[in-house]
Amino acid sequence: MVKRYIDRYHPILYSCSMTIIDGRAVAQKIQDELKQEISQLSGRPPCLAVILVGDNGPSRIYVNRKTKACEEVGIKSIKRHLEASISEDKLLKEVEHFNVNPEVDGILVQLPLPDHINDSRVTRWINPEKDVDGFHPVNVGKMLIGETNGFFPCTPLGVKELIVRTGVEIQGKNIVIVGRSNIVGKPLAAMLLQRGQGIDATVTVAHRFTSDLKEITLGADILVVAIGVPNHISADMIKEGAVVIDVGINRIEDLARKSGSRLVGDVDFEKAKEKCSFITPVPGGVGPMTIAMLLKNTLKSYRQSVL
Ligand code: NDP
Repeated sequence: MVKRYIDRYHPILYSCSMTIIDGRAVAQKIQDELKQEISQLSGRPPCLAVILVGDNGPSRIYVNRKTKACEEVGIKSIKRHLEASISEDKLLKEVEHFNVNPEVDGILVQLPLPDHINDSRVTRWINPEKDVDGFHPVNVGKMLIGETNGFFPCTPLGVKELIVRTGVEIQGKNIVIVGRSNIVGKPLAAMLLQRGQGIDATVTVAHRFTSDLKEITLGADILVVAIGVPNHISADMIKEGAVVIDVGINRIEDLARKSGSRLVGDVDFEKAKEKCSFITPVPGGVGPMTIAMLLKNTLKSYRQSVL
């Protein structure tokens, strides 16, 4: 199989019949661009404050990845690691401290939070102008009505960016999104539905109660899957030549591996790749884009507040 980069603007692995989208390469390219942009700023650097509550293992890993990525591109990061037993009111005070600090551009509270804390109340407490995760209702509302000065949530923003970078026209295409969560499916649908150059898609959102999912997915020119069910989308559910973006990250048992497990997506990648024009792998597809978009949002916030 011949593999090469399509061109220097599309760092995507290429073969004669289909293309595996290299999300790590695309994310790295975006981070290189951000680093270059940030190096030209005068005055203080952009700054992201990250709050981690408790000792959830995956959350610690995500927070470390985010702060390391900040460092690599020249964004200052402030990490606050708080006891799992902290009260909701005390956590809100920590958020408030960053809300009013003029040198902080972005605030991220790593989810999930301990059970005694109301995630939604904390999300709403973040100053919408610093809500670089894009979960505050003000930003969700702006996204829905097509205002571009708010923040779009990072994972769907990364998905859209990957689709755009395939070079496949989005306008007028049938895009099917399987999964309707508030952090992936719903915001992605809102983004791709907007009027404007490079968007204007016809979007269908499917979920657990969708009858005949296969009939719907077979109509997709671009299929995005975010359900959290390993290998749920089989090759026979995919239209020949479709673009497939797999957001799912699922750990399954694999006794052949030393770790005893491995990560797979929601799409049966090995068989599906024979039918697609473009497909993202798991890991190495959408995942790396989420952090790149967080950095992009932080720089956007900096530019909106400082410049
Ligand atoms: P949620 O559990 O919040 O939502 C899952 C959605 O999938 C729901 O809308 C659910 O439908 C739907 N669904 C579940 N099973 C089926 C099914 N059999 N058929 C059709 N629809 C189904 O998940 P998230 O959106 O948070 O995450 C989805 C996946 O994406 C996970 O694997 C997660 O790990 C991954 N993820 C990856 C990220 C990344 O950076 N790459 C970031 C965020 C998530 P209903 O609403 O009816 O229950």
